[in-house]
Amino acid sequence: MRPTTATAGETTENKTNGSRIMPASRQRSLAGRYSIVTQALALAAFGWAFFGWVNESYLYWFENPIWLNRYTEYAMILAFGVWRISAEENPYTKKRLATLVAIVTVLWWLIPWLIPFYEPYAGHMISQPVFPSLHTPGTLTFFLTLGLVFLFGRRVICGWGCPCVGIRESVGFPFRSRTITGPTAWKWRHVKWIFFALYVAAAYAIFRWAPNSWTSTFLGLFTLLVVIPYFATFFLSPITGNRFYCRYLCPYGATFGLLNKVGFFRIDFNKETCTDCDLCEKVCDMGIPVVTIGKAEGRVDTTECMGCGRCVTECPSRSLAFHDIRNMAFPALRQDGRMLKESSGLASPLFLRHAAIFAFMMLTVGLMAGWFFTSVGSPAELSNNLVGLVCGH
Ligand code: SF4
Ligand code: SF4
Ligand code: SF4
Repeated sequence: MRPTTATAGETTENKTNGSRIMPASRQRSLAGRYSIVTQALALAAFGWAFFGWVNESYLYWFENPIWLNRYTEYAMILAFGVWRISAEENPYTKKRLATLVAIVTVLWWLIPWLIPFYEPYAGHMISQPVFPSLHTPGTLTFFLTLGLVFLFGRRVICGWGCPCVGIRESVGFPFRSRTITGPTAWKWRHVKWIFFALYVAAAYAIFRWAPNSWTSTFLGLFTLLVVIPYFATFFLSPITGNRFYCRYLCPYGATFGLLNKVGFFRIDFNKETCTDCDLCEKVCDMGIPVVTIGKAEGRVDTTECMGCGRCVTECPSRSLAFHDIRNMAFPALRQDGRMLKESSGLASPLFLRHAAIFAFMMLTVGLMAGWFFTSVGSPAELSNNLVGLVCGH
């Protein structure tokens, strides 16, 4: 399922106008154009994932519905993820996608399926186990994520760990070339603060009041407001590009974006070496005007950057570099394209270290989930205990 490529088109155009010749290796993160068959397959997979959430039935495995249930989305991410990982030519993106698919498969699919854990509010509201859902206020994992985002940026979740980016960067990949860009699209990014305000109100209701009929109604409406656009934007991808939900509608992305702004993460921009090739803007699925912001501020420090690293790794003059908490400890550290790509080889010491840390985290989360489930009591008792703990009842 190779793209018929905008990449090739871009190269020709650059060659014919004689202004700048981009080697193919520089073009690998540009969005390709895919065949109608590939796009139809992607839309069918989106549809399958969606119906899995609305209709829990079809095929069973030891009494668990497996092919048409909410885990169907994660199966689609795994299937299309394998395609994307094998086809990806940027080593850093390949590493990111491999980690993303592994996190979704283990944390969002296997653990909740094998060790069901009901969380206060969300778990009972949808009558399904949700641990260790990162999309639910009140979970330890959520607060742990907030801390990690503060230290390393929104990329911790929006680039490397969220099922939403998982399905949009795997199943939704053929629609990257449709990403809406330009000044107007950039201005519309503020819409997400409406969803953020509702989210803050929902979180306040959870901490302020024990579950009752009106909090359940309010939280139910809030959930619908999040969930309907989540799925609707699957099917809008051929018009809007694959990251429309993350750019404009996700309240959690807005939360993580705020921490992007006040935390240690940013992209350093070197005005002296930038050659104005615009490649960084062309590869950005979040439609961020990287060059304009970089030239004005000497850095790209926005709430929108999900830290995919495409701009950094593809910058031909190494004018861009990630900056996070590690730069406080190691001021000489420069996380530019060369460093990110060199650390992504399967045999590199850094990659092996990251893989070991990842395996340790997965094991810890799995053991924690097992311990919670077996030693704290039934899911319902645990929910009541947690609500009592948080609300003081
Ligand atoms: S913006 Fe929201 S949906 Fe998108 S990756 Fe981030 S948390 Fe997930
Ligand atoms: S920062 Fe790099 S990729 Fe972006 S315009 Fe400058 S040289 Fe090109
Ligand atoms: S600015 Fe760069 S790192 Fe951030 S989302 Fe865009 S391409 Fe990814």
